[in-house]
Amino acid sequence: MRDSRITSLLQRLGIKETNPGATTGAVNGWLNTSGTPLVSCSPIDGKPIARVIQASRQDYEAVADRAVSAFHRFKMMPAPMRGEIIQEIGRVLARHKEDLGLLITLEAGKIISEGQGEVQEMVDIAGFATGLSRQLYGRTMHSERPAHRMYEQWHPLGLVGIITAFNFPAAVWSWNALVSGACGNAHLFKPSSSTPLTAIAIQNIIAPVVDRYDIDGIFNLVIGDRNEIGNPMLSDPRIPLISATGSTSMGRHVARTVASRLGRSLLELGGNNAIIIEPDADLDMASDAALFGAVGTAGQRCTSTRRIIVHKGIKPQFCDLLIRKYQQITIGNPMEEKTLMGPLIDQGAGTAMADAIREALGQGGTLLYGGDRLTLKGLEGGCYVKPAIIEARNHYPIVQQETFAPILYLIEYSDLDQALVLHNDVPQGLSSAIFTGSMHAQETFLSHKGSDCGIANVNIGTSGAEIGGAFGGEKETGGGREAGSDAWKIYMRRQTCTINWGRDLPLAQGVRFKPSADLP
Ligand code: NAD
Repeated sequence: MRDSRITSLLQRLGIKETNPGATTGAVNGWLNTSGTPLVSCSPIDGKPIARVIQASRQDYEAVADRAVSAFHRFKMMPAPMRGEIIQEIGRVLARHKEDLGLLITLEAGKIISEGQGEVQEMVDIAGFATGLSRQLYGRTMHSERPAHRMYEQWHPLGLVGIITAFNFPAAVWSWNALVSGACGNAHLFKPSSSTPLTAIAIQNIIAPVVDRYDIDGIFNLVIGDRNEIGNPMLSDPRIPLISATGSTSMGRHVARTVASRLGRSLLELGGNNAIIIEPDADLDMASDAALFGAVGTAGQRCTSTRRIIVHKGIKPQFCDLLIRKYQQITIGNPMEEKTLMGPLIDQGAGTAMADAIREALGQGGTLLYGGDRLTLKGLEGGCYVKPAIIEARNHYPIVQQETFAPILYLIEYSDLDQALVLHNDVPQGLSSAIFTGSMHAQETFLSHKGSDCGIANVNIGTSGAEIGGAFGGEKETGGGREAGSDAWKIYMRRQTCTINWGRDLPLAQGVRFKPSADLP
């Protein structure tokens, strides 16, 4: 923690040199935590920003107990009133957009506009959740029995556990907590150990709203490792729903553990997203989309473009254009406005990238651009790389995996049917795109024969989704949906109600169950 700009940023966000790692959400809700210390280092230069005393198992129990009793009060508050609280949270987040965005840049290494964009996403979802609080609609059905009425209604679930990845340290909390908050639940937020300060800042920003509405215990934070906090959360029967965002291997563990107690999981896991480029595509637009998709956030988005499936007739032309655009990318300190690509999250990510490139070349790939490590003056502790483009085949084992780094595999095809087979032939199913001017190609891509992903775009890249739609993916991406549309339903329990307003008791399906003889 060095220059005065950073010192005053941390002060404005209430981050001290040493911070407790658990709170029940109110201004004075911070616990005197007793776990092990965790130092948050900036990926920009590898230097420490501040320290967190993590929550111990005992601290976790204290927060979870508080959350359970807070839930029983909160669930009785009318949903539109909860919506007003969420709206207020949206307002305070908007007021702190610049500061919180900068902290995301400092702690996660995103460029400034992406850090700010993440906070804007939180503000947008708050608006969505506020409206939703008046639209938690159930249906009515016509009963088959005379003088009966049927309807379904939605009740809050209880405690929702929110486990998040380092690359969206703020927005993913809001997709879950604000929508689920409108639904009437209480929350336990366990952020990534790489980005604990962003989570602390969010808690500090919303704390005055928590106090004003007396909802201490609804938006809780517990920072800790998987032994003290992660695994106990997964096994905790007080938490009916665990929402987990992260790698597929983490998701497998979450799914197994939560299922073994018949809990519900909402999984948002890795992607292996591709753009198909048809011969009639606007190549300038397609290469811009590939550039943002593959290089934006240094290739560290779940929706990052990892594969370009390009028609062989236009491959040389597309490739030249893309490489020229790659050469114009400014790589460096994400705190500087001109930077378009910042560092990888840590040195381990750099090693994983180098290993993946080596494997791709060993499996038959050809390096077309980049892939080198960069040493930047004054930022020697950060992990900076040149994004890589590798000509490859879809079936290479390394192409089948998600490497969380800016590596783009270029794969050629000769007709649309083949492109679709290649596109779907990976274990993951998050985001997908096609660039084409043909209605036939567009509609084929969107048909049952087309993309098997949760997100399918036409003439738009794979990353940068809006909050209004349901977000998530199929296959190894985990099947979860968050944010817009009717994603709220996962945070509630459905109840079917039947009311008999007649004077008889007819049974469904015409079943008769009445003694025929006169009663003795
Ligand atoms: P990660 O799997 O290493 O960690 C994710 C979270 O899971 C962290 O909070 C971590 O502490 C927690 N965790 C790990 N083991 C746990 C356990 N046993 N019990 C409880 N919690 C546990 O992922 P990461 O490196 O932080 O993030 C990158 C990954 O996340 C990529 O695979 C990316 O695609 C994925 N991601 C997916 C989405 C999506 O919406 N699909 C969004 C963002 C990131």
